[in-house]
Amino acid sequence: MAQNDGDELNSPKGGEVNNDYTFEAEVGKLLDLMINSLYRDKEIFLRELISNASDSCDKLRYKALTDSSLMEDNTNLGITISINKSAKTLTISDSGIGMNRDELVSNLGTIAKSGTESFIASLKDTGSDDTQLIGQFGVGFYSVFMVANKVEFRTRRAGDSEGWRWISEGRGSFTIQSDEEALRGAEVVLFLREDAIEFLDESRIAGIVTTYSDHIDIPIHLKEPGSGERVLNDSSAIWARSKADLSVEKYNDFYKHLTSDPSDPWKFIHMHAEGAIDYTALLFIPDSKPFDLFEVTRQHKVKLYAKKVFITDECEGLLPAWLRFLRGVVDSSDLALNISRETLQHNPILAKINSGLTKRVLSELKGSSKDLEVYEKFWENFGAVLKEGIYEDTKHKDEILKLSRFKSTKDVTKWISLEEYINRMPKEQSAIYYLSGDDQYSVLNSPHLEGFRARDIEVLLMTDPVDQFWLPSVGEWMDKPFKSVTQGGLDLEALSTEEDNESSKEDNIDDGTAKLIAVIKINLGDSVKDVRISERLTDSPVCLVADEGDVDIHLQRLLQAHKQDLPEQQRVLEINVKHEMIKYLVELLGEDSSSGILSDASHLLLDQAKILEGGAPSDPPAFSRRLSALVAQSSNKRGNNKEKN
Ligand code: ADP
Repeated sequence: MAQNDGDELNSPKGGEVNNDYTFEAEVGKLLDLMINSLYRDKEIFLRELISNASDSCDKLRYKALTDSSLMEDNTNLGITISINKSAKTLTISDSGIGMNRDELVSNLGTIAKSGTESFIASLKDTGSDDTQLIGQFGVGFYSVFMVANKVEFRTRRAGDSEGWRWISEGRGSFTIQSDEEALRGAEVVLFLREDAIEFLDESRIAGIVTTYSDHIDIPIHLKEPGSGERVLNDSSAIWARSKADLSVEKYNDFYKHLTSDPSDPWKFIHMHAEGAIDYTALLFIPDSKPFDLFEVTRQHKVKLYAKKVFITDECEGLLPAWLRFLRGVVDSSDLALNISRETLQHNPILAKINSGLTKRVLSELKGSSKDLEVYEKFWENFGAVLKEGIYEDTKHKDEILKLSRFKSTKDVTKWISLEEYINRMPKEQSAIYYLSGDDQYSVLNSPHLEGFRARDIEVLLMTDPVDQFWLPSVGEWMDKPFKSVTQGGLDLEALSTEEDNESSKEDNIDDGTAKLIAVIKINLGDSVKDVRISERLTDSPVCLVADEGDVDIHLQRLLQAHKQDLPEQQRVLEINVKHEMIKYLVELLGEDSSSGILSDASHLLLDQAKILEGGAPSDPPAFSRRLSALVAQSSNKRGNNKEKN
């Protein structure tokens, strides 16, 4: 962040009590959007403040387990909302952990988490409703400037003697002063804008709290001078209640509170396990993809509680990374309350909970997968994550493969299972054919599919990067090997149509073709591993394939894109002997002085094969020169022929 007066600001010199700071540029941009916002759903600022207050109480409750002095003389953890109509202020206070000066500067002046950039972009792109998402991006506090033209944040960190006051009008800068009267925890005072006076209305506030924050397990009080104080929420942990007492709506509300996702979840699972280990879990599968699903940390966001005390929301061992789309809460009475977050990693109780949850989630998914219309939504959002489990988790590999759905060349609008694929393939077909690529469009246009289309053989389309990792590790399914259509010999003859059989491969290797292949091989030298007659082409003249046992072409490109050091693999160039262009080259063979043209043509064939796969010719100027030469030559030839006639 930018600081106005030197680098001592993060740790003030003795006696220095007042400092002005400039917001980090990204915060500044976000604040401008908030201040000038015409967003409908301004009320979400309250949800964000209450959520911060409740997190802060959770943190103190956890710390106090090992250091009870932190509670000082106030063991009540709670949140209070106070309305002051004459001063036009709304104040949200909590008795939680609070912040020291450094924390105040960095938490309310910079943006720690990634994703803000995309949040700002999405606000600009799509308009109003996306402010709902602000909490998901870890910048919820700044939404206060949708309703306030000045904000004071008074705070004292539990255990500290010194308190602080952060003041800002949201325009570029903030000030920090020392505050001797600040109580433990935080007090956020909003000086409301004229267009936000509605938030001084008691019933309006009560309504918002019920909508968004009813499930906070810390009491929320509402205070107004003259009309006293009342508690707005029922503050019982929803997961500890019996299913019979909870409506779907209650579950959905809790999900929204937990995630800041404005939509209902796709599915929820509320389970209680008893026996060797006792735990309760309330898990949700969202209805859309969160923006950080593919971050390198692959961290799930399920919160861990022990006997209703929040322990951590970063407990790696609680769930496998391939279930990181789950949101929710796990609470166990078997975990020691004073367990340290560090030792959680290798805790045997956690390992058991992990295995119980995994089993349950997979069985729930199996149930849902019976209704494809419903399941499709899940698969489109999270299939690519679930498939990571196929190679990371040998124990659940088969179950995940059964849950996996694929697009195929038969009907790209439909998802099918491996079982369906195998059930409908012809008797003679011995492999599960697939084609990998970056996206559906490019794979569907691949020349490698031509021979399969002509023979009406279905090919699975593998367009998720993760497919490249599980496919080699699985090898086969129901005794059928997975086989890339861009790799090795295909044995398509067994599947040939009658018409194909009449003019089978053998017949085509006449002297001319054999000679042409030899000429191309000589011309291309080491640029190819081999030149062969293709079984897979019907329309295109050429394609490149990986030899049996070599790295698949798409995988090679993926690895290169990720800067993996992979030596360039030689490929096999396949030619389509029925193609006019190849026939023309065979004709040329017999002619004098054709060697120059044939050399150009050989290189052009290779370049063409590269282009067909979405690559580029290895030497573009040479490509252009050869193409011109060949066109000129063929038009000359035509001219000569005309003269002769
Ligand atoms: P998020 O809560 O998603 O991290 P915010 O912008 O709402 O994002 O808050 C930024 C940070 O400021 C919080 O992570 C927290 O560390 C701190 N903070 C905000 N409000 C409070 C509070 N009432 N008590 C203690 N810390 C707070």
